[in-house]
Formats: sequence, C-alpha cells, structure tokens
Amino acid sequence: MREDLRIGISRCLLGDPVRHDGAVVDAADLVAWLGARVELWPICPEVEIGMPTPRELLELQVSPNGVPSGAHRVRLVGVETGTSWTTRMHDWAARHAGKWAAAGISGVVLKAGSPSCGAGGVPVHSGTLRLSGRGLFAQAVATALPDIPMVEESELERVVAREAFLAAVRARRVR
Ligand code: SF4
Repeated sequence: MREDLRIGISRCLLGDPVRHDGAVVDAADLVAWLGARVELWPICPEVEIGMPTPRELLELQVSPNGVPSGAHRVRLVGVETGTSWTTRMHDWAARHAGKWAAAGISGVVLKAGSPSCGAGGVPVHSGTLRLSGRGLFAQAVATALPDIPMVEESELERVVAREAFLAAVRARRVR
C-alpha cells in the first residue's frame, strides 16, 4: 500500500524520452519499487524551460557572474552553440522548487551527472580544468528545501539503500 509521501523525481527516470538525445533511461525497477510505495512527482527541467527533444547537450561553465552550483558560480550553456540557458533555468528552478516545498515534497530522486538535475559531482568546466558542481535544478531544490533527502538513481540500486532513503523521507515529512 502506498504511503502518504511525495517524492520528486527526474522525469527521464520514468522512461520518458526527454533526454537531450532522446535516449531512454532504464530505471524501471527503481521506479516500480518507489511507485508502489509513494507518490512520484516527475519533472524534466530542460523540457519545462522550453527546450526541444532532441536538443544540444548542455554543460556548466565557471563564470564569476553566474549562479550558484555547489561551491562555484556557473553558467548553463549549450556545448555547440554557446547559448546560455542560465537565467531561464535558474528562475524557473527557483519557482518550481518553491512549488515542491508548498506541495509537501519530502524527498528527491535525481538523474546523476545532469547539469540540470545532478545532485552532486556534475562536471563544471573552467578552461582545461574540470571541477565538480551541482545541477541548477538540484541547487534550487536544496535551497528551497534545506536538508531534504536528495539522492541520485545510482545510489538506489540496492534495496537496503532504497529503504534507508524512504526512512529519511518519512522522518522529513513528520518534522
Ligand atoms: S536529467 Fe533532468 S533535465 Fe535531463 S532529461 Fe532527465 S529530467 Fe530532463
């Protein structure tokens, strides 16, 4: 039976072909496991800000005038065209994270490595250096919902890890 818990999740993890290259992510086992237990709230930030699928690959680049991504300030730009999506993503992400906070979202499962969704360890480019940051949507969620249990799908391969995540989500909800 489903618990009264709401978890935000990167939409591509549900198998929707929303990734930049239209590829489908196989996270069916995890999604079925979670979906049998909690209410899932999927979202694809890049689609929501108006990007088509397929679309050019995005990356985070260090910029003193950029927005926060972990310990850095960055721009979110198209790898081929250099088009900046920074302001659009930053502003949309702040608004949507606020909606999740108001809706009682108490846990988040995000796609690893994405410059929009990645919860940590996302490549941040600075010349030839490759630093580590956080996707801009993940950053907004962490700001709007401090201490929310936030994981990437790659952390939930084992059932014991899934159970631990749900325990943290339950604890968050009753606070
Ligand atoms: S990682 Fe996030 S932005 Fe990228 S396709 Fe998945 S849901 Fe969309």
